[in-house]
Amino acid sequence: MSELANTRPSPSPNTGPDRGQLAQLFRQFIDPDFVIEDPETQKPYECDGLSMYCEMPLLVVLPETVEQVQQVMKICHQHQVPVVARGAGTGLCAGAMPNRQGVLLSLAKFKRILEIDPLGRTARVQPGVRNLAISEAAARHGLYYGPDPSSQIACTIGGNVAENSGGVHCLKYGLTVHNVLKVELITVEGERLTIGSGGLDSPGMDLLALLNGSEGLLGVVTEVTVKLLPIPEKARVVMAAFDSVQAAGDAVGGIIAEGIIPAGLEMMDSHAIRAAEDFARAGYPKDAQALLLCEVDGTCEEVQEHIERVEQLFHRFGATSIRTSQSEAERALLWKGRKSAFPAVGRISPDYYCMDGTIPRGQLAHVLTEMQKMSEHYGLRVANVFHAGDGNLHPLILFDANVPGEFEKTEAFGAKILELCVQVGGCITGEHGVGIEKIRQMPVQFNPEELAQFHRIKAAFDPAGTLNPGKGVPTLRQCQEYRSIEPPSAEHPAPSSCGGSHV
Ligand SMILES: Cc1cc2nc3c(=O)[nH]c(=O)nc-3n(C[C@H](O)[C@H](O)[C@H](O)COP(=O)(O)OP(=O)(O)OC[C@H]3O[C@@H](n4cnc5c(N)ncnc54)[C@H](O)[C@@H]3O)c2cc1C
Repeated sequence: MSELANTRPSPSPNTGPDRGQLAQLFRQFIDPDFVIEDPETQKPYECDGLSMYCEMPLLVVLPETVEQVQQVMKICHQHQVPVVARGAGTGLCAGAMPNRQGVLLSLAKFKRILEIDPLGRTARVQPGVRNLAISEAAARHGLYYGPDPSSQIACTIGGNVAENSGGVHCLKYGLTVHNVLKVELITVEGERLTIGSGGLDSPGMDLLALLNGSEGLLGVVTEVTVKLLPIPEKARVVMAAFDSVQAAGDAVGGIIAEGIIPAGLEMMDSHAIRAAEDFARAGYPKDAQALLLCEVDGTCEEVQEHIERVEQLFHRFGATSIRTSQSEAERALLWKGRKSAFPAVGRISPDYYCMDGTIPRGQLAHVLTEMQKMSEHYGLRVANVFHAGDGNLHPLILFDANVPGEFEKTEAFGAKILELCVQVGGCITGEHGVGIEKIRQMPVQFNPEELAQFHRIKAAFDPAGTLNPGKGVPTLRQCQEYRSIEPPSAEHPAPSSCGGSHV
């Protein structure tokens, strides 16, 4: 543990220039309107999508060129000022929550698609480009970008790299890490690095894999080159209802064992089915205990063959009803329910808390059953809607933040779910990252030596710990504080909590 104790995860208190002086320094090279000191104008930056954690920064800056980012980093490095990078702020782990003593560095102005190479099937983009915008721009070449977070209309590729984001189609096409070829990174000292290459492999250590999922702790991404995929000739979806979660969970394993890798394989439980159907009128059977949506894509012949096999398999695993899309409109309708499941659940509860853990597929039924028992123990309902094919759970714990103590109970319930994921051989995050939200569960997942190794890597990139401090990897003190994962108390409060509703 001594190694952990010696690390410096948080910078020493900022004794350099004050807010006004720092703003003056930045205004020498950034448009003064984009150096924001005023708390009212800073307000939209106080949190990400996990709005119960919030903090006001010292300053918000919105540089427009890579050189300006470098300058910001150099000045902050010189004065030991913390820097938190921010994309669209849709993150769900408080990763982009500002640091009170630091600069919130928004990449919102980096919105240009720099190049689409249809022959090489790549796109070179700035970090503030929205995920969906890449596919929209590539569509005229018959191409698209594979990883498709549900937030893809808003989230940025810079944020996707930092969180190693996933989505419905990642079962077949891989996570962000499998679809990024090269990034340009500005180091904490303001140096410009190119990591990765235009090819499938590059010499040297695989720092590219390290950067994917590094949560803004190692540098600021200023350019990303991604792989593009050909838009499949055909895609169809099979919806199958089951009268038990166990049967649906077994069918998920059955599909993969059959040698079919669906483009997407999603599951919803009874709470989620009913909420989504009331909201989207997608034609979901409201009396089902579990629903699977299985999409297959490829050539028309491939799709036809796979659809028949999937239908047979669902029958074999006891599906109570099966419906297969006969048109693009019907396919879109069947997905509409799934895609609107989060807001739909928002209508049946004043607040909900979206967890994100991953388990081996074979444990689906066991974990869902255990979760139901915990739901009864905590007296809180839980709706499940998730990427079943890759075992990535998204339990939505329903609660009311206005009821005293209910949020704390929700957090404790969420922590227990993540512990269960680890117990069955899974992990505490599938795609949303650790940030502040799951830092308490890191010691459940990793031993002190492993955590110390993370700190050594962090120190190699950021010796003073000024990049996104306090996130991602817990310190020794935090490990001791979090050893008992109970609701935060007066002695061990959760990091800054704003209350209110949240995703
Ligand atoms: C309704 C909803 C649905 C969602 N569905 C999914 C889903 O299906 N799959 C999924 O994976 N996620 C999902 N998310 C979570 C979120 O959208 C992703 O984590 C996304 O990648 C965040 O991108 P962002 O641009 O909003 O990043 P932000 O929230 O702004 O930042 C996220 C992290 O990245 C860092 N960062 C941002 N830009 C940079 C940069 N240029 N350089 C270095 N670090 C940077 C930040 O410091 C922070 O730690 C969902 C969120 C919502 C609200």
